Amino acid sequence: MSNRHQRRASLAAYRQSVGQSLLTWLLPPDTMIGVPVLDDAAHAWLHYLPTVAPSRTCICCRTLMHHRQAVGGLLLSVPALTSHLASVSAVCTKRWTEASIEEIEAATERTLSVVIPHGRLERRKAW
Ligand SMILES: [Zn+2]
Repeated sequence: MSNRHQRRASLAAYRQSVGQSLLTWLLPPDTMIGVPVLDDAAHAWLHYLPTVAPSRTCICCRTLMHHRQAVGGLLLSVPALTSHLASVSAVCTKRWTEASIEEIEAATERTLSVVIPHGRLERRKAW
């Protein structure tokens, strides 16, 4: 559970740890990556989804997501230089199934621009 002040403080800490590079994943919510910080962050994000305030919104269309079934995909990120902090956002089920990958990537870049202004996604091989 976190309030707005705590979220701002954690965003500031996250931004400070990032430097200029994040590693990101866009994947269905039940996918296990095998990286504990990411799997734990995704699990916690989904677990607290019904009770977190303010409610979580889709990064594409801003639809409120109050339950696990509303989440089509998760956007996970970790700073490239450290891996003890993770960020989680989500795409709703409707956009996950109907939006183009370009729309989802544009929403991803907008979302992560609070951490890296004007940052751009670069494709890398999956681990
Ligand atoms: Zn949406």
